[in-house]
Amino acid sequence: MKNEPLGHNKPVPLSNDNQPTHEGPYQGQLHDPRDEACGFDILPSFERFNKNNDTYNRGRWDERIMSKKVLDWFRGMYRPDIAARDRDGYTAKDFAFRLGGWVGTNLLIERNLKNGRVDGYQDDIEIYSQTAKEKVEIESPEKMSKELKRVAGIFGAELIGITSADQRWHYSHWYDADHNAEKPANLPEGLNNTIVIGTTMDHNIIKTYPSATAGTAVGFGYSQDANTLQAIGTFIQAMGYRAVASMNDTAQKVPYAIQAGLGENGRHSMLISEEFGPRVRLGQIFTDLPLSFDESKRFGVKEFCTICRRCSDSCPPRAIHDGEPQDEIYNQSNFVGIRKWSIDNEKCFKFWVNQGTDCGICIRDCPYNMDTSTWLKQKYYQFWVWLAGTRLRRLALWLDYKIGDGGRKEPDWWWSGGGDATLNK
Ligand code: SF4
Ligand code: SF4
Repeated sequence: MKNEPLGHNKPVPLSNDNQPTHEGPYQGQLHDPRDEACGFDILPSFERFNKNNDTYNRGRWDERIMSKKVLDWFRGMYRPDIAARDRDGYTAKDFAFRLGGWVGTNLLIERNLKNGRVDGYQDDIEIYSQTAKEKVEIESPEKMSKELKRVAGIFGAELIGITSADQRWHYSHWYDADHNAEKPANLPEGLNNTIVIGTTMDHNIIKTYPSATAGTAVGFGYSQDANTLQAIGTFIQAMGYRAVASMNDTAQKVPYAIQAGLGENGRHSMLISEEFGPRVRLGQIFTDLPLSFDESKRFGVKEFCTICRRCSDSCPPRAIHDGEPQDEIYNQSNFVGIRKWSIDNEKCFKFWVNQGTDCGICIRDCPYNMDTSTWLKQKYYQFWVWLAGTRLRRLALWLDYKIGDGGRKEPDWWWSGGGDATLNK
């Protein structure tokens, strides 16, 4: 059923009786010349995703997901006392650590709540600078791209790629946090270039999943991402061009990251980058700044995932598909009309809620998630990624079982000085 405005244009709250708009099969250009190189298998049934169907948003309106526990899970993002318990990795200290990691993101969210916006999650990130009236002259898109990448690196982007806008990945509708309702997608026209950035999450802390301790790496990754995106967006707007910065809002990040050459899709449905494996947070900027585009990059992830089941075997609620890529969906939180590896988001989210924090066991145990903190470890990682991309991929898998650092580290290991207490890239 569609959300129709009531008397004073007040949107009707979403509910099981007032479901998100179902747009139906995509009416735009279904296929793109880049699809084959990116490994996208788009079917005629393809639909754009309605953001109101993601599991977190459904946790606010869908009775099949909502519960007091879910409410406490949301509140626990700000209140370490709610979920803390006497268990290694889940104490008040661990949740306080996690809260510290999320501060940058929480400040970003709070900034515009009074205006009915949730920047970075439901709405794009408001950019600090207005668009300058005078445009800085751009010598060539190629030169500007090189300069932008240098600028982004200084602002904290560890991976960066540029691609053209692709409406297929844009959410058909957005979430109206003020009314717990649906609202129209609101990305301005004419932003034809998409910059995708990646920032890493700390390897040692990720190894302590499942725990609130580990959630710090994710929270701090988001906070860094938010800062980097705003800095790049400000740079662009102060030069007289438009920029819309985005994290979990506006569009799907993984397909854009693949098109921009940042990596490939893994069985766990996350991006696997050649440089840092799945340990990256992604963000994007939609802009009219003249830029040249990057090519997508394949380095054997799909073939490797075909023989590897580390993530599906280690996922506690069995939310990760262990067969071939498929177009069947688990529920309305899945993309429709793409043959790919997808996960059962309902099972995954339920596990998160039961833990009182997030989960990243599938990142933790992915063979591409390696410690690269020393020169030697980095060289081994590069060798291993190369090997995993060859016909000897079973040897790479065997090596990971024999000498990889798969499995969980106790949070107390980290607190007691295990690993490096600085960001471990
Ligand atoms: S985050 Fe955890 S529950 Fe979700 S798919 Fe990964 S391992 Fe499974
Ligand atoms: S754990 Fe294995 S199957 Fe899962 S995403 Fe990583 S490489 Fe692919």
